[in-house]
Amino acid sequence: MGEVSPLLFLLTIMIQDTFEDDSGDSPVLCKTVAEVRERINERIKRGVTIGFVPTMGALHDGHLSLVEIAKKRADVVVVSIFVNPTQFAPDEDYESYPRQLEKDLEACRKAGVDIVFAPDKDQLYDSTEYFSIEIDSLNDHMCGGSRPGFFEGVVLVVNKLFNIVEPDVAVFGQKDIQQVEIIRRMVQEFHHHVEIVSGPIMRANDGLALSSRNQYLDKKERVAAPGLYRSLQYIESQIASGVHTPKLLIQHQWSELEAKGFKIDYINVFDKHTLKPVETLHQGSSYIIAGAAYLGNTRLIDNILIEF
Ligand code: AMP
Repeated sequence: MGEVSPLLFLLTIMIQDTFEDDSGDSPVLCKTVAEVRERINERIKRGVTIGFVPTMGALHDGHLSLVEIAKKRADVVVVSIFVNPTQFAPDEDYESYPRQLEKDLEACRKAGVDIVFAPDKDQLYDSTEYFSIEIDSLNDHMCGGSRPGFFEGVVLVVNKLFNIVEPDVAVFGQKDIQQVEIIRRMVQEFHHHVEIVSGPIMRANDGLALSSRNQYLDKKERVAAPGLYRSLQYIESQIASGVHTPKLLIQHQWSELEAKGFKIDYINVFDKHTLKPVETLHQGSSYIIAGAAYLGNTRLIDNILIEF
């Protein structure tokens, strides 16, 4: 066989590099901060952009829709899988939260994720932590109002993750709309160099917003569960047909849901920018019709965004 030309040799190396790395069958699994930094630095040196989807795992089509968005906006997609202890209250489901790394890795492989960062707790949290982040009025209502400490835990971990992953773009779901708005504000105030993108809510055929916690629902609860979205849709339709002071409308939906077995945490219309409840809707503003309710021990949340 003749001598291999330098150009062909270079081409072979480049192809090998591509296949062994970003486009390989499986995502690279990083369990430590050092590992993920190394992988990301390699890519930053090559000038590629990083898209990031933070999750707590138990991945479903909602998470994977965010991966699709990230793939369109960046060269490399990093998904983090970390059940963040600081966003769970002592009486919440931190211990029992579904953990299924193998299954999630397979879902990431099919979705074309490049890097999965799945650290243990001690990788992100020291035994002693001297700093925390407080959130002001954006935290007073909706989930912030009923889950004290929840968003402080979220912004703490997202801060750490942004510093570790250094993404160019990070994709969050509109399903957790208060989270997206708080993170947008955090990025602005802390000067993180990342673009925040919000992805639409993925739903089951009957309208229930997909959630890792839906697997807690028993059969009867699962049948009732889309009722929350239907109530929000009803409020939306009434607003569209001219009801601009939704208080009575909301009270009515509240009772209807209670009759179906829901224990309501909140249902209301909120200003999209201040995240405060509104009495009267005004033309030209953006609002969120949002609700959170329990079926048994399972907490469901949902929302509809309206440009009024
Ligand atoms: P989680 O694993 O619940 O922390 O969610 C990780 C990300 O996925 C968050 O940005 C969520 O808002 C988003 N997400 C969760 N459920 C859905 C859904 N049904 N549709 C779209 N995004 C979702």
